[in-house]
Amino acid sequence: MGSPTFPRTDATTLRRAPDRGSYDRAEAYAILDEAIVAHVGIAVDGQPIDIPMHFGRDEDRLYLHGGVASRLVRHLDGGARVCVTVTLLDGLVFARSARMHSANYRSVVVLGVATRLTDPAAVDRALACVVDHMAPGRSAEARGPNDADRRTTTVLEVPIETASMKRRVGGPVAEPDEAPAWTGELPLRVTAGAPVPTPDASSAGLPGSLSPWCRPGLAAGPS
Ligand SMILES: Cc1cc2nc3c(=O)[nH]c(=O)nc-3n(C[C@H](O)[C@H](O)[C@H](O)COP(=O)(O)OP(=O)(O)OC[C@H]3O[C@@H](n4cnc5c(N)ncnc54)[C@H](O)[C@@H]3O)c2cc1C
Repeated sequence: MGSPTFPRTDATTLRRAPDRGSYDRAEAYAILDEAIVAHVGIAVDGQPIDIPMHFGRDEDRLYLHGGVASRLVRHLDGGARVCVTVTLLDGLVFARSARMHSANYRSVVVLGVATRLTDPAAVDRALACVVDHMAPGRSAEARGPNDADRRTTTVLEVPIETASMKRRVGGPVAEPDEAPAWTGELPLRVTAGAPVPTPDASSAGLPGSLSPWCRPGLAAGPS
């Protein structure tokens, strides 16, 4: 594991509400481990593009995967810089004035350069990491990658070296305004619905990874 805090660079220095931010590696990893979707940002011919993707984290590395024909993965394989962002939306904040409405959140921004994995064992480990991020233990239940999977899939590793996290908690900031509007916070959480099997799903019933689906920060739901 790298140093407990990320080095502060010009690109990651928080300028607005810096008291809500941190460069603490453990705090950032807790958020990355809870988030299900990452927005992967690249610049193509001067046009910024953010693409939602699954990901996994193993210690100080993020893993992304995509089809070999994917514009995003081909671009990153060429050594382009990348920005990976995850956001956990914890609530909506209702203030007296329309302008001061806000959100409670925890988010992480990772900046870096991706490297394509070529060693088959490393590719298999990274793909397992991505699928286990969705449902811990799932990689042991699903068929592992075969030669065709490895030929048609590009797996990228992004080192987590330059990163920042930011969070907002609590209700609206106090305003002198005396408007009679309701003020407060509406908490939001991810919950799981009941799993829907395919007609040919194994008759052995729900696998361990789904009974119950248990990820960091998940609210209790139907199982
Ligand atoms: C929750 C989630 C997880 C995903 N996980 C993965 C993953 O792990 N690996 C993976 O390869 N793909 C994943 N996808 C699909 C991914 O978002 C892209 O659609 C796909 O990777 C194609 O990327 P590309 O760069 O080749 O897109 P292209 O088809 O080359 O993109 C061309 C344009 O299409 C539009 N576009 C592309 N994707 C989207 C989108 N998702 N929504 C709206 N507009 C879009 C954009 O304008 C983009 O500039 C995921 C999508 C979601 C929503």
